[in-house]
Amino acid sequence: MIHNKFRNYNTLTLILGSNLNSKLQNIEVAFRHLSLFFGKPIILSNYYETAPWGNTNQPSFLNIIAQYNTNITAFDALTIVLDIEKEMGRLRLENMGPRNIDIDILFFGNQIINTPNLTVPHPHIAQRKFVLKPLVEIDALHIHPTLNKSMLELFENCTDNLDVKKFITQ
Ligand code: ADP
Ligand code: MG
Repeated sequence: MIHNKFRNYNTLTLILGSNLNSKLQNIEVAFRHLSLFFGKPIILSNYYETAPWGNTNQPSFLNIIAQYNTNITAFDALTIVLDIEKEMGRLRLENMGPRNIDIDILFFGNQIINTPNLTVPHPHIAQRKFVLKPLVEIDALHIHPTLNKSMLELFENCTDNLDVKKFITQ
């Protein structure tokens, strides 16, 4: 048995978002929580500032994508991110409304998961430029495991016209 401990590692791709109060600080707090379970991200995108999706009468969002190498399962990863949201006192005032923190699982390696509580890849990737833009930045040629298109192709075909701008942090 050689290098058995390296089996079952997967690349977990998360998107973090906030559009309430100190957005950048909220995301930094979430990263500190995430690091306790997943360690250091292997890749981080830039931060992006995005006009709100769905209900447009709310503050703009700050989003960032992080990838981790982990041997934690996708279901345990979901439990962890939902616990972090709860721990941070996530406010769910209304559906698609303002939230201080949202952490979604975009990809889990090439796994395809369709259960009532977890859908991977995340079902809305192809419709949202605020997801596709940072995905193109970190890995433009990554192939979506069910749509069989690269992040760049999905981005170029995406009809979402909300403004997504790089957000410069010090
Ligand atoms: P949204 O992120 O769509 O705005 P929520 O953050 O309130 O909505 O999530 C609602 C539920 O979505 C969660 O309780 C979780 O069980 C479910 N869910 C399904 N697939 C995923 C995924 N890939 N990442 C995160 N949550 C997911
Ligand atoms: Mg969510």
